[in-house]
Amino acid sequence: MRKYDVIVAGGGFAGASAAISAARHGASVLLIEYNNCLGGAAAECLVNPFMPYWTKDENKNKIYLSTGIFTEICDRIASLTAEINDAEYKATDKPMTTFNEEYLKIVLQRMALEAGVRLLFHTKVTGVKKDGDRISAVSVSNKSGIYDIEGDCFIDATGDADLSAYAGCPVRLGRETDGLCQPMTLCFRVSNVDIPRFNEGKSELQKLYKQMRQEGKIKNVREDILVFPTTSDNILHFNSTRIVKRSPVDAEDVTLAELEVREQVIELFAFLKKYAPGFEKAVLVSSGMRIGVRESRMIEGDYVLTQEDLVGCVKFEDSISACNYDIDIHNPEGSGTSHYYFKDGTYYTIPYRCLTAKNNSNLLVAGRCISSTHEAQASYRIMPTCCTLGQAAGTAAAMAVKNGGSVRGIDVSELRRNLQKDGMFI
Ligand SMILES: Cc1cc2nc3c(=O)[nH]c(=O)nc-3n(C[C@H](O)[C@H](O)[C@H](O)COP(=O)(O)OP(=O)(O)OC[C@H]3O[C@@H](n4cnc5c(N)ncnc54)[C@H](O)[C@@H]3O)c2cc1C
Repeated sequence: MRKYDVIVAGGGFAGASAAISAARHGASVLLIEYNNCLGGAAAECLVNPFMPYWTKDENKNKIYLSTGIFTEICDRIASLTAEINDAEYKATDKPMTTFNEEYLKIVLQRMALEAGVRLLFHTKVTGVKKDGDRISAVSVSNKSGIYDIEGDCFIDATGDADLSAYAGCPVRLGRETDGLCQPMTLCFRVSNVDIPRFNEGKSELQKLYKQMRQEGKIKNVREDILVFPTTSDNILHFNSTRIVKRSPVDAEDVTLAELEVREQVIELFAFLKKYAPGFEKAVLVSSGMRIGVRESRMIEGDYVLTQEDLVGCVKFEDSISACNYDIDIHNPEGSGTSHYYFKDGTYYTIPYRCLTAKNNSNLLVAGRCISSTHEAQASYRIMPTCCTLGQAAGTAAAMAVKNGGSVRGIDVSELRRNLQKDGMFI
């Protein structure tokens, strides 16, 4: 059986960029993904658009905080769109926020293959083999059977910290007070909408939605209708269902969530069909192939990022990522969403120590399940930042392999220099 320098579990923004960066730095890399493509929540749950990944200087010029591989991905989506002359694409969208996930999937797969990453789809990581505090192999399950794959260094980019939990790293779930996570949401798309008419009537529609919720005629606990444009002139994206008080890492709870949320999709679409201007010919065209999970297990790493670090805009000596998206907490118990916004010109950083998992010498974690509190995760969980966390983890893993595999044995100043050379905002 082949052994890899670096094995990445999960192919979302974090896992894809981790695999690409590790391979570009000379490691042999296997990326194991449960589904049929790269892109993670963007591809599987239809999550869109990119939330803001910039701050502004005193002249209101944008300073991008998520760059490197993330910028490459945006540029390649834009050039693919131009190449095939997609008239639907809003070419003026700069910086890219709204994107077409079909283009994202192909761009990520091309970038991974060009870097030399070996991809293994339809495969679930189900466990690990350990030798002391070293992981020697991951156990996987797929149509070929159940078997182990050996590696020197491992990256957990599963979103749910599956690999870390299997490897005995302590994990936390949800708020400190009661363990509740942010709500889960099934996103859906509606086509054939007269969007200018919809936009004109939107504020009246929101009032009616709130009134019908108060009267108990709408069961969805979300306080308003959260809707976004897409790259198409007649398709709208709804991020507006809300399942609370269910655990995203309990299979029975997730099943109940999927059943309940599908009813919410129909409830909201029926409401829109009946009352929304521009919806006369509307068609419910798709929903995510799984419910979207904003928050689930997070590892306990060598450092736990907190809300105080974010609000204090702390610049860590070993920082490998920067962000200033608001602390955006969808109420884990029901209605309401709270925000803490960062001022223009400010941002916080994320230290490398949030990626190193306790009880393991050759495991790094990337994406939404790094070491932090519920409140801190509510900000850095956005796709652009997850992408930068992946790039940092992949580069570090390739360095660790050269130094015997120990993720704590690398020179973090050198890691930061490498990331800067590769275009990241450090
Ligand atoms: C409803 C919702 C709305 C959101 N809205 C926005 C938004 O508007 N803008 C924004 O920027 N961000 C948004 N986010 C946040 C963002 O989408 C995620 O936090 C981010 O995509 C996480 O990236 P990731 O790579 O860490 O994990 P994921 O994208 O979740 O990728 C994890 C991958 O690992 C795979 N996997 C999981 N377990 C295993 C296993 N055991 N074995 C093999 N593979 C496995 C999964 O199939 C998946 O492909 C939203 C999230 C949700 C759920």
